[in-house]
Amino acid sequence: MVKPLRELLQKLFRHRAEPADLAFSRPLVLLESDDWGRVGVRDKQGFESLRSRGLRLGEHPYDLYALETATDVAVLAHLLAQHHDSGGRSPCMVMNFCTSNLNFKKMRARRFEQLELLALADGLPGRWSRPGLIESYRAGIRQGVFYPAVHGLTHFCSAAAENALAEDGERARLLRMLWEAETPYIYWRMPWIGYEYWNPEKPRAGFLSAERQDYLIQQACQEFSALFGTRPTSACAPGYRANGHTHRAWSKSGIRIVQNGTGSGLKAPHVDEFGLLNLYRTIDFEPSQKELEIEKYLQIAGSCFARGWPVIISSHSINFHSSLKDFRTATLVALDSLLTALEDRFPKLLYVHDEDLYAIVTEGVCPRIGERVEVSTSQQHWKPAGAHQGAL
Ligand SMILES: [Zn+2]
Repeated sequence: MVKPLRELLQKLFRHRAEPADLAFSRPLVLLESDDWGRVGVRDKQGFESLRSRGLRLGEHPYDLYALETATDVAVLAHLLAQHHDSGGRSPCMVMNFCTSNLNFKKMRARRFEQLELLALADGLPGRWSRPGLIESYRAGIRQGVFYPAVHGLTHFCSAAAENALAEDGERARLLRMLWEAETPYIYWRMPWIGYEYWNPEKPRAGFLSAERQDYLIQQACQEFSALFGTRPTSACAPGYRANGHTHRAWSKSGIRIVQNGTGSGLKAPHVDEFGLLNLYRTIDFEPSQKELEIEKYLQIAGSCFARGWPVIISSHSINFHSSLKDFRTATLVALDSLLTALEDRFPKLLYVHDEDLYAIVTEGVCPRIGERVEVSTSQQHWKPAGAHQGAL
């Protein structure tokens, strides 16, 4: 045990072959959630408009991805506030925001020939309407049940969309049909659209250049500040697609924590060469997409806690949506059950968010939680066969 750890970590960076794993003396639980603020199918009107143009919507949950309402957000905040850890604190969900949407009005005026963005801080695009939504995010943040973080400017790769427009073929027609209905894209129908920092196809396949990523990240951080009045400290790349350039640009923009998906298997947190604390999610909680297995999640939590690793519950905003389909009701019941089960099974657990964990790692103490959490480091990695949830 070394406290504070900063000196030790700096020493480890200088000599390390592999970054040191971090372990914690208390069972820590985090909630991380993606895609907030990102519009999809524009409620019933947009849904009917797309159906009338021949798109067979309803084949996949993401055909029913719209945008959260102020009520969706408020009832989630209410549920989180009902739960408490051993120190009496409620869980605080890390919400990753896309800070821009496509500016459909401006794009329509230019016959959908190029991309234009509208910052979420400046409102919703076109005919999208969500009274009170921004205030509901802010209310949850003030209440201490939400912690805003940055996902990206857009979720899709702008280079991929620009390639499709330049080709002016079937893909451009699909994009323009969606844009007419004020839907930016539906990923499962067009995975060639990629993720913000990663273009899956030629030309310009692969990760965007360092300069381009740097620009996108700076822009997203500025828009985040306009929205919440504070700089983001935690980030999660759309599609979890990030490379060294992404990490360098994040670090330069003041990001201190990087969220990774469950795809790497169960993995301990570590600090990378840019000084970023890398966290790996543990449990995919996606009631809109699959049956839940609470007992299995508890076993995974037990395995993590036994090794001193935090349990990070991952969930996407679609699970809390209600406008096109009520995903929300079942999700809240399931989340309530999962949190209750964790609190019962692990009575010493502490709910923390990303910045709390960073403070624990770098300072040995977190002012917000006010309880002692010891941190140790090791060079061990644990990748048990079969323990990971695979395709979740
Ligand atoms: Zn996402």
